[in-house]
Amino acid sequence: MSNVTVCVRFRPLSSKEKKDLGDNICIQSMDSETVIIKDEKEEGFAFSFDKVFYEESKQADVYEFLVLPIVRDTVNSINGTIITYGQTGAGKTYSMEGPNILESDEKKKGILPRVVDGLFAYIKTSADSTKYTVKLSMVEIYMEKVRDLFDLSKDNIQIKESKTQGIVLSGATEISLSDTAEALQSLSSGIANRAIGETQMNMASSRSHCVYMFTLNQESISEKRVKSGKLILVDLAGSEKVEKTGAEGRVLEEAKTINKSLSALGNVINALTCGSPAKANHIPYRDSKLTRMLQDALGGNSRTALLCCCSPSPSNASESLSTLRFGARAKHIKTSPLVKVSEEKCSKKNGDASGTRDESFEKILEKMSERLNDEDIKLLEELFIQAGLFVDPDSEEDLESAIQDVVQQTISSLMKAVEELRSTVEMLQRENNAMKGRLAVAERCDALPGENADFLHKIFGFLSSFIPEM
Ligand code: ADP
Ligand code: MG
Repeated sequence: MSNVTVCVRFRPLSSKEKKDLGDNICIQSMDSETVIIKDEKEEGFAFSFDKVFYEESKQADVYEFLVLPIVRDTVNSINGTIITYGQTGAGKTYSMEGPNILESDEKKKGILPRVVDGLFAYIKTSADSTKYTVKLSMVEIYMEKVRDLFDLSKDNIQIKESKTQGIVLSGATEISLSDTAEALQSLSSGIANRAIGETQMNMASSRSHCVYMFTLNQESISEKRVKSGKLILVDLAGSEKVEKTGAEGRVLEEAKTINKSLSALGNVINALTCGSPAKANHIPYRDSKLTRMLQDALGGNSRTALLCCCSPSPSNASESLSTLRFGARAKHIKTSPLVKVSEEKCSKKNGDASGTRDESFEKILEKMSERLNDEDIKLLEELFIQAGLFVDPDSEEDLESAIQDVVQQTISSLMKAVEELRSTVEMLQRENNAMKGRLAVAERCDALPGENADFLHKIFGFLSSFIPEM
């Protein structure tokens, strides 16, 4: 178990903030881990994190401390997630992309281009006996719909849970990347496809969550193994409160949806950090697309880092304070990342035509989901509600994945029962063999003349009480 790495970054004062309040700031640096923030009433609150990056911090510092260890994990097939959180204009996108994704100034480059550099640098220095593939998917969660940023016709991507790969974006375009330049071009075209373009006001561009998903596959030719690591980067929508933006109409609806998914994120974090360790409490991952997509990152097999972005201006003190509180809460989440190694090739070579156990498991699941009719779905829905599982009856996707959960549980208990049955059969076979052995000896004894037979029967009876399965 390891904790989520949580860092805070304060951007420099904007020209507007300087114009309004001069050089005034609401934070005081204690050291590189502790900061004191003063609210509107000048009351001070101290917060400690893994690292606090102040106004003068460099892009490279953030990458090296927060991201590089996770990139190293990805190449070792441990899934990783990096999330930027904070109010609009706090520096999330600047940290993630840099001033521009194609920024060529080495100092200003953001996390994404550095991740790309890191992955390809690793591939360059690695053994020739391994075949590498880097793939990228980019989606945007806008108004509770997942849009494929590489194919705008896919505007309602479903989030599914796979036994072997964890949370997956079903049918999302995956672009194969062969070098850094190609990766940056793909990222740039994906960003250009966002619902609200970067060219419009910053307020508008912060209304959707943007998710970048890299997959690194390493196929070892000599060992016949495929290792796979997934790295997800999430640039969240602004976390500011609706009243402050003065939103109306469609804009207000957007803001409400964002607040809903971010509060669902807060609820998931609360459920993960408040429950008693002895009793597994219900974690409401299905309350929003965002939390469902981050299910692995928050509660399972992933190394996760959170960058809380803040303005240092007193005019944004209450938003910065709430961002710091969010980060402090997230710090208590514990995850347990696992190495993902698939040995499918080996098992196929050994003549196992049905593939690995997990593959067969998935096939069964698929078949069962295909065969469920409306009545089954209704019945399962009632069962979920009775069992206290959250189900949004309007969401086909939630229902589908909830069904998968139950089907998965049923299959595991069936498999357990088969396992028990198999060991009972083995035990009975052993007993049967022992009985046969005893019978054969007894028959041979019977064939001997009178006294000898009695004597041997006695010895045999005596011995078999010590060795019942002879
Ligand atoms: P967000 O994505 O959180 O809404 P942005 O990343 O777009 O905010 O940042 C808002 C503005 O502040 C942008 O003009 C950006 O260039 C600037 N900015 C943010 N962080 C920094 C930083 N660390 N150094 C310099 N400028 C920054
Ligand atoms: Mg942004």
